Amino acid sequence: MSSVFVGKIPAKGYAMLSKDSKFTPFEFTRHSLGDGDILIEILYSGICHSDIHTAKDEWGGTMYPCVPGHEIAGRVVAVGKNVSKFKIGDYAGVGCMVNSCGECEACLASKEQFCQSGKTVYTYNSTDYFHNNENTYGGYSNNIVVSEKFAIKVPKNAPLDKVAPLLCAGITTYSPLKFSKIKAGDKVGVAGFGGLGMMALKYAVKMGAEVSVFARNDKKKSQALELGATNFYTSTDQNQIKERFNLIISTIPTSYNIGDYIDLLKFGGELAIVGLPPYEIAPSISVIELVHKAGKKVYGSLIGGISETQEMMDFSLENEIYPETILISPLQIDEVYEKLTNGSGEFRYVIDMKA
Ligand code: NDP
Ligand code: ZN
Repeated sequence: MSSVFVGKIPAKGYAMLSKDSKFTPFEFTRHSLGDGDILIEILYSGICHSDIHTAKDEWGGTMYPCVPGHEIAGRVVAVGKNVSKFKIGDYAGVGCMVNSCGECEACLASKEQFCQSGKTVYTYNSTDYFHNNENTYGGYSNNIVVSEKFAIKVPKNAPLDKVAPLLCAGITTYSPLKFSKIKAGDKVGVAGFGGLGMMALKYAVKMGAEVSVFARNDKKKSQALELGATNFYTSTDQNQIKERFNLIISTIPTSYNIGDYIDLLKFGGELAIVGLPPYEIAPSISVIELVHKAGKKVYGSLIGGISETQEMMDFSLENEIYPETILISPLQIDEVYEKLTNGSGEFRYVIDMKA
């Protein structure tokens, strides 16, 4: 370990200073490199809709300055003395979490997002219980220090710009497909066809499922069909839609009618909800409606644990499943947020942190 990395590590990023501000260059420090930590030079950072919800305080509780970004891919530039998984020069990824208690039932099962001690530390806008309760800052920056346990191994030949979105969009859609044990021949519906929806489609197709996409308009219909969708619907009208699904994954980030999607499940089918709309417009469903639509399951799904994230990374690279991406410079972040909010966005924007 070089003495350059003793003490707090300076970092430069882009922050929102309030919910209505624009992204502004922001200098801060990362916690010092512990014995089990690695320092990653961030090369690419994906833009997830969760970044927008947080930056604009749509879920409440945003701490400013806020540096979003939890789809991080880069190169290891320093390692603590006890690090065994990485060496300098390796590629590494960081997703939505950077720490947890490591001792509870959930952490021992590598479901760190469900840390029973309530100590999951998210990559940004989160209290770092293990480093003086500092606020965490995300990947729209030049570096990050993280425990090697929370870093994902990425092989040297991987296209890093495409790897970045796997760290959130990838794992968040891979995980429910695994949880619901999707297999060849199953029917899967994907509601909301953006960054997450596009990955859900790709994974489900690879798993041999017959996949249909639900969107608000048919702007992305030809892309869905090219990527392997069997059907593309712009309505949830049961009179128009004759097929029924084993699993529907809802990635919708706005208000919608949850019951419509339950109606489209087969008997015994499952609705996995991953989309997290702003609090003020988040849809809900009455217990009466739920009971009348019984015989099916509705569940929420939150990213995926670290071991499953590594499994997803290996699966994606082995099968060459990568997101549809557009590379941007940090100066375009505001413009991209606007597009993803007004419905004119493409699938996944990735910030080239060197640009
Ligand atoms: P994107 O903005 O990339 O995509 C969202 C898509 O949903 C867009 O294509 C949008 O359509 C579409 N959409 C919006 N409203 C509807 C509707 N009523 N019916 C059908 N489609 C609709 O967002 P992401 O994919 O990055 O994120 C999606 C959601 O998932 C966010 O709320 C995010 O916070 C959440 N999330 C949850 C995670 C978890 O662990 N549970 C992890 C990561 C993200 P259009 O293109 O027309 O605007
Ligand atoms: Zn995300």
